[in-house]
Amino acid sequence: MATDSGVDRLILQQLTERERAAFAERHPRSAAAYSRADHLFGRVPMTWMNKTAAGFPVYLKTARGNRLTDIDGNEFVDFCLGDTGAMAGHSPAPVVAAVTRRLGELGGATTMMPTEDAAVVGAELAARFGLPFWSFALTATDANRWAIRLLRAVTGRPKILVNSYCYHGSVDESLIVVGPDGRGRSREGNVGAPVDVTETSRVAEFNDLAGLERELAHGDVAAVLMEPALTNIGIVLPEPGYLAGVRELTRKYGTYLINDETHTFSAGPGGATRFWGLEPDVLTIGKAIGGGVPVGAYGLSAELADALTARGDLDLVDMGGVGGTLAGNPVSMAAIRATLEEVLTEGAFATMISTATAFADGIQKLLTAHDLPWSVSRLGARVEYRFADPAPRNGTESAAGADAELEDFLHVYLANRGVLLTPFHNMALMCPETTLDDVARHHEIFDAALTELTRA
Ligand code: PMP
Repeated sequence: MATDSGVDRLILQQLTERERAAFAERHPRSAAAYSRADHLFGRVPMTWMNKTAAGFPVYLKTARGNRLTDIDGNEFVDFCLGDTGAMAGHSPAPVVAAVTRRLGELGGATTMMPTEDAAVVGAELAARFGLPFWSFALTATDANRWAIRLLRAVTGRPKILVNSYCYHGSVDESLIVVGPDGRGRSREGNVGAPVDVTETSRVAEFNDLAGLERELAHGDVAAVLMEPALTNIGIVLPEPGYLAGVRELTRKYGTYLINDETHTFSAGPGGATRFWGLEPDVLTIGKAIGGGVPVGAYGLSAELADALTARGDLDLVDMGGVGGTLAGNPVSMAAIRATLEEVLTEGAFATMISTATAFADGIQKLLTAHDLPWSVSRLGARVEYRFADPAPRNGTESAAGADAELEDFLHVYLANRGVLLTPFHNMALMCPETTLDDVARHHEIFDAALTELTRA
C-alpha cells in the first residue's frame, strides 16, 4: 500500500530494521564508545549528536577532503561536510598550514590583540559580499545575536521578523512559526524562552510578500532576519520578485534587512547576496568561511556603521552586550584568510557547483524513474530532496513534507554503504574535492534503496 511520501510503510519499516541491524554489526566500536560515555549529557558532546538514524552515532577517526573514516575502520564519502562547516573540505592544507603557523611558529591562540590577518579578511569579505565594515564572532549564532542587538539599538524598535521554520542558530527571536490560525506562535520544543516569543518577534512565510507587509505595517520591526533561500527545512528557493519585494518593503517600513548567509554561501563566492544582486544592510555568516575553525562574522552597510558610531550612548567597547573575548582571535582570522584566499575561490566554486548540478540532475532522473512524488532543489553547491512534489514554496509546506522514518532509512542505508548525508536534512553538499565518481557512487546506492523501497 503506497501511503504518504509514496512508499509502503510496512516495507519501509522492515527495511529500516534490517539496515539498523547491519549498522550495529558494522560499528561495534562506535556502539561501545557511546555506551561508555557515562559523563556526557545524553552520552554525546552536544545533544544534537543524538540525531542519528541508527540509534547511536558514528565516531570519527580521520577526515580529509570529502573522506571520513570511523573508529571501526569504515570509510565514507562525506556529503554532510559538517552541515557546511567543512564546505572547504576537511582540513584543507592551506588552513592547516595557516593555523599551525599561527599556533606553533608565531604562537598566540588568544591575546586580546588584533592581527594583520583580520584587516585582510575584512577587505576580502567586503569585496565578496559588498558590505564595507566587518566584525567577528565565533559562531553564526552570535553574529546573528549581535546584529539583532545593534539593529534594535539604532531603530529603537523591539521586534525581529523571521520566516516560518527558519533556522538562524539558537537565537531566541527566531523560534517562532506561523500557526494554523495564521498568527505567530512559539516553535514546538522551544527550550526556556525568556519571554513569549510573540513579544520579541514577528513571523511571515517565505515567498509571501503580502504577509510580510501585514507584519511590517505595525511599525515595530527593527530588522528582518532571513536566509535568501531557506536551507534548514529542505531548500526553499525564492520565487521571482520575492527578494526584491522584501527589500522594497523593508525600506518602505524603515526596517533593516539581515541576510544570514551561513548556508546560502553555497550559491557562490559572494553567497546568494552576490548571486542574486541583493542589498542587505547586514550580512551574517559563519561555519564555512573558517575552513572548519570556529568563526562568525557580520558585515554592516556604511549608513548603518555611521548611525552606530554616532550613538555615543551605546557601549560597543565594554559591557554593552555585543562581543566575546575570543571573537576575532588570531587563529580564527588566520583560518578565514587561508580559506577565502586559497580554498573557497572562484574556481573552487565553479567546480563545486557543476558537481552539485550533476548531483541534482541524477537525483531528478532517479525520482522520475521510480515514479516517486518527491522533488529536488539546488542552491549552488548544495542539493536537497524533499518528499513532496512540486517543491514546497515556504517553510510550513516544507515542514508538512517531512518524513522522519523515510529520512532515517535513507540515511542508514547510505551510511551502511559508505555515504554520509547531513543529519536533520536530505542534504548533500559538494566541497572542492567532491568528484563526479563520488556523485555516481551516491546515485548507485540511492537507486538501490529506491528499488528496494518501491518493490511491489
Ligand atoms: N544561521 C544559519 C542559516 C544556520 O544554518 C546555522 C546553523 N545551521 C546558524 C546560523 C548557526 O550556526 P552556528 O551553529 O555555527 O552558530
